[in-house]
Amino acid sequence: MARVFNFASGPAVLPESVLRQAQAEMLDWGGHGFSVLETSHRAAPFVVVMDETEALLRELLGVPANYRVLFMQGGGHQQFSMVPINLLGAKFHADYLLTGHWSLAAAAEARRFCSVNVVADTASSGATRVPRQVELALDAGAAYAYYCPNETIHGVEFDYVPDTGAVPLVADASSSFLSRPLEVARHGLVFACAQKNFGPAGLTAVIVRDDLIGHTSNRWPTLLDYKVYADARSLWNTPATFAVYIARLVLLWLKAQGGVAAIERLNIEKSALLYATIDGSGGFYMNRVAVPNRSRMNVPFSLRDDSLNDTFLAGAETVGLVQLKGHRSVGGMRASLYNAMPLAGVQALVAFMREFQRTHG
Ligand code: PMP
Repeated sequence: MARVFNFASGPAVLPESVLRQAQAEMLDWGGHGFSVLETSHRAAPFVVVMDETEALLRELLGVPANYRVLFMQGGGHQQFSMVPINLLGAKFHADYLLTGHWSLAAAAEARRFCSVNVVADTASSGATRVPRQVELALDAGAAYAYYCPNETIHGVEFDYVPDTGAVPLVADASSSFLSRPLEVARHGLVFACAQKNFGPAGLTAVIVRDDLIGHTSNRWPTLLDYKVYADARSLWNTPATFAVYIARLVLLWLKAQGGVAAIERLNIEKSALLYATIDGSGGFYMNRVAVPNRSRMNVPFSLRDDSLNDTFLAGAETVGLVQLKGHRSVGGMRASLYNAMPLAGVQALVAFMREFQRTHG
């Protein structure tokens, strides 16, 4: 069966060359006579994979030396609790910018640990823009300030890094990670679950400034302490070895594409093509997000007549354009255009959209 163009929001499309290499190495990895799935995480060949994955991530994102790169499990959701558990220290409140589903979810979890100061809330008015810097009611005494640079469900992406002064800025970069340059030094902590641009589900990357590590109380579970991962080089417990192995291949692929700046140019081109098609449809297709805040990674759009949604989705599938159904809370369609989605995939999607409009408009 031929591969289709897969617009899933995550777990999402991976580079075909990565899948082929994993397939080729499945029975005999690197001449060892076994699969990477079948070896100890402490055995030398796997430790090399961990080290190289970290080194590649540092290189591709330009991670400064005073930041630690940690790999763990638990996904984005676990970070919603690890962030307050580790960064509150002796403080009792944190600032949250609410811009959509995922920042709301993070703030809800943080309320279990501290008081949440809502510094801006564009989520309650439909999550169609991000707040400007001047709108942020920041608290200089907050333990940290938290935002989600790209809201995967609402398709809203920050076009700037909020300035929080001396208060450490925390980013849930899950769905924009590696899609564009990241100003790590302007953040105290950046985390990303892997299953969008970085690899398979089961792996989460945390990039954290070293002075922010080691301030949690020992009443919390061991595996919720960043220091445990930092001290053990993310090998305190068994990591998601296969996910790390794939992530390394994805990073090598990204490097071969020219790195993050090159992939950003392609991501701009892909998303611009889709938004232009939506905007040029005379209202047949709609995206309500303010133009400067439109996500390059996740493009939600609706049909003027949503009784045609199922016909659209079924028609798209017949031409190999799959997983376009919008999130249940937003409805309509959503095309996720992660790094591994080629321009040809977006070209095929807009050709289908134009034809669908011609026959149903
Ligand atoms: N944050 C963002 C921005 C996400 O898109 C997601 C998942 N789609 C999460 C957090 C939650 O991640 P997980 O399902 O790995 O817990």
